[in-house]
Amino acid sequence: MNAEIAQLVSLQDLDLEIDKINQEIQEEQEALNERMKKLAEKEAHINELTAQIDELEKERRTLEDETTDHMAHVKERQSKMMQVQTSREQTALLKEIEDAKKKVKESEERIVEIMEKIETLSTEADEGKKQLKSEKTLVTEETEKVRKAIEAINKGKKERTSVRENQVKDINPRLLKKYETLRNRRNGLAVVNVKEGVCQGCFMNLPPQQYNMVLKGDKMHTCPTCQRIIYHLETAN
Ligand SMILES: [Zn+2]
Repeated sequence: MNAEIAQLVSLQDLDLEIDKINQEIQEEQEALNERMKKLAEKEAHINELTAQIDELEKERRTLEDETTDHMAHVKERQSKMMQVQTSREQTALLKEIEDAKKKVKESEERIVEIMEKIETLSTEADEGKKQLKSEKTLVTEETEKVRKAIEAINKGKKERTSVRENQVKDINPRLLKKYETLRNRRNGLAVVNVKEGVCQGCFMNLPPQQYNMVLKGDKMHTCPTCQRIIYHLETAN
């Protein structure tokens, strides 16, 4: 095999390992992010419940104040009854008293409804808070585990990166640039084997004449379809 191609093949093996390591780090991080997102959603739901409860409490207080007013009104009208002379005035007062009593009853019913609703929401919120607390503990532990895992993975990455730095020194800069451009554009594969006349990067056939030249292995060739650098190695898979 052409010596420069051999350098690139070796570099690519290393780069693919580093790619895999980066992928692992990303997956670990994403899984953790997903859990944190769920946690934040749960927290937002609890906050929403609390806001609903506050709103209902406010309504209940307003209703209670109104009830007090209506009851005072009933009392006041009832004492007025003693002083009225005509039955027309009496009828009017009675109606006023009845209306006020009705309002008191309606308010009281609504207050009962609100209390029940508050109880349901409070139970849900308390349950959610309890769950959230234990999940937060779990996620904290998980974060620590992921941090350690990433640290270990990074160690492997560091080792490979320093090997890579050394390898790169011996490669012609122009060739290295070409290799890196190809890797970026061609899904991480810049140098590929040719098997039975087929490029293992894009799986297209090479022209027979070019294939014969690739078989000789002395010069560098590129695939006419995907432009990857191609070589021939019998034992490669
Ligand atoms: Zn190709």
